[in-house]
Amino acid sequence: MSERDQGAYYTFKILRSDASEPADEPHFQSYRVRVIPGLTVLAVLLRIRDEIDGTLAFRSSCRSAVCGSCAMVINGKIDLACRTQAGAFESRTIILEPLPNLQIIKDLVVDMTPFWNMYEKVKPYLIRNTSDEGKEISQTEEERGRIDQYVNCILCACCYGACPVLSRDPDYLGPAALAKLQRFALDSRDERPRSFLDEIDSDKGVWGCDTVLRCIDACPKNVRPTDSIVGLRKSLLKHRLFKRNGKSAKW
Ligand code: SF4
Repeated sequence: MSERDQGAYYTFKILRSDASEPADEPHFQSYRVRVIPGLTVLAVLLRIRDEIDGTLAFRSSCRSAVCGSCAMVINGKIDLACRTQAGAFESRTIILEPLPNLQIIKDLVVDMTPFWNMYEKVKPYLIRNTSDEGKEISQTEEERGRIDQYVNCILCACCYGACPVLSRDPDYLGPAALAKLQRFALDSRDERPRSFLDEIDSDKGVWGCDTVLRCIDACPKNVRPTDSIVGLRKSLLKHRLFKRNGKSAKW
């Protein structure tokens, strides 16, 4: 076996804490693991938990960047542990921390409740007024293409953790919820009343965004939530104009 294939020992410094043990101060705990080519950060975490320390807590499921469970901060950058190669870093010390903007339950596991609450607020499902029970609602390729970018969202909350607005205002809807709203607003099959735009016409909605694009940098699926916010702002301005002229807005 070549020297490269044998890998090298890395130190993983993991921020540990336990909300059920408030007397325990958050602290970094180090683990030495041999990293061979192809080993992901998630694979390292599984090895630590299975072979070194069974008390380490983190979330994971699909191991292939589909479920969005293993979002965390890896050497200062928010990403999914399952798609991050442990050996890709120049430094042989890798620091792992939980997602920001969410309360820690234990170690790398955060409470996703605020994220899901915001998601629910935008009614993330098709709303139809037309009665079409049992019928297929077809779309053209062009219509489907309009929502491609947003359909890719895996609800990992990387963007939520990266958002500077949420770090100072937990009532802000946030990038993932707004991207999801735009996904349905652009969907040719959706018939939600345009009054939904009034509900995001505030600094808790589309006007809260600082447009510093951190959500775009953090998103592992190229959803580009800021694009959705800019798109919703344009729709909202059009909606206001039509309302002022006594007409209902056309999408
Ligand atoms: Fe994750 Fe991107 Fe969806 Fe945000 S927009 S939840 S970063 S996939």
